[in-house]
Amino acid sequence: MKVRAAVAYEGRPSFSIEELEMSEPGPENLLVRMAGCGLCHTDVKAREGTMGVPMPVVLGHEGAGIVERVGARVTKVKPGDHVVLTGDSCGACPTCLAGNPAYCDRMSSLNFTDGRTGEPGSFNKGSVAIHGHFFGQSSFSNYAVTRERNTIPVRKDAPLEILGVLGCGVQTGAGAIMNSLHPPAGSAIAIFGAGPVGLSAVMGAVVCGCSAIVAVDLLESRLAMARHLGATHTVLAGPEVKIAEQIRKIVPGGVGFAFDTTGRTDSNQQAIESLAAKGSFGFCAVPAEAPKMYQVMTRGLSIRGIVQGDSAPDVFIPHLIELHINGRFPFDRLVTKYPIEKINQAIEDQAAGKVVKPVFTFPS
Ligand SMILES: [Zn+2]
Ligand SMILES: [Zn+2]
Repeated sequence: MKVRAAVAYEGRPSFSIEELEMSEPGPENLLVRMAGCGLCHTDVKAREGTMGVPMPVVLGHEGAGIVERVGARVTKVKPGDHVVLTGDSCGACPTCLAGNPAYCDRMSSLNFTDGRTGEPGSFNKGSVAIHGHFFGQSSFSNYAVTRERNTIPVRKDAPLEILGVLGCGVQTGAGAIMNSLHPPAGSAIAIFGAGPVGLSAVMGAVVCGCSAIVAVDLLESRLAMARHLGATHTVLAGPEVKIAEQIRKIVPGGVGFAFDTTGRTDSNQQAIESLAAKGSFGFCAVPAEAPKMYQVMTRGLSIRGIVQGDSAPDVFIPHLIELHINGRFPFDRLVTKYPIEKINQAIEDQAAGKVVKPVFTFPS
């Protein structure tokens, strides 16, 4: 079948919108007609060629849509169901079986490096094979072929076009707080970076009932959004700003929890220095250099690496949607919609801080 997709080519600084051929789904696949797909920083990194993703490739990994067809062995969903797509996992390794698909033994190959061609749901343009199956979906396309493992059925009264962001960026931020660090009600937390992941973490901290939520960012507009979503305090970062000192003025003795989304060494260091004794530091992006570990030992701190917010997506994504419908998780405020044709503009606007979270729509 023919699909319309945004294709990334090696060495090209922008995406091209092209018509491609997509091979038929297999008996274990689902065909999903895309309603919307979020833009995640990982898509931008993958296009830059820094993640080992083979090219040319159709990226996109925050898709949401309607099931159009299912293979003979699919029982989880049926045509017409609304679904959110998330990262793929094998379902058979000990980590998957223990309910931790984000740490699947085959995480890297299934989601990034395989880029399978010549399989059901693979793309080609004439005689040129285009890699797909990025995060098991490649959803910068008006149709995607997925598997049961990474397809999450959701209620139909939720705003389908924007739900895909729950499948990666939003679950990464909210899950890091709600699933991984789980600060008790009344506790204090500092969140470093107020992009889509950090702002989702702010919303997660509100759901957890944190009494002090300090957001840190380089952009005042992002901090305004953080306050709007429930941050009780904000710190504008900058070269001369001693962030940990400022946080300790807001929360004497330091915060019990800190979460870094920036992957910056200085940010990691400030997060550690802002913690109270026995505090917990979580991070979802890796800095080039490790922070100094002296205080980690002498203050009895814990450090926790977190992927995809420790989410079990079949449970966590419907939970976030329920919170949203009940008015307790306003992730829609992060979103700006663009037709997929405007993908390059959206990336520019996000990099310039004009928008927080682009979501692409697929006008027919
Ligand atoms: Zn992502
Ligand atoms: Zn696995």
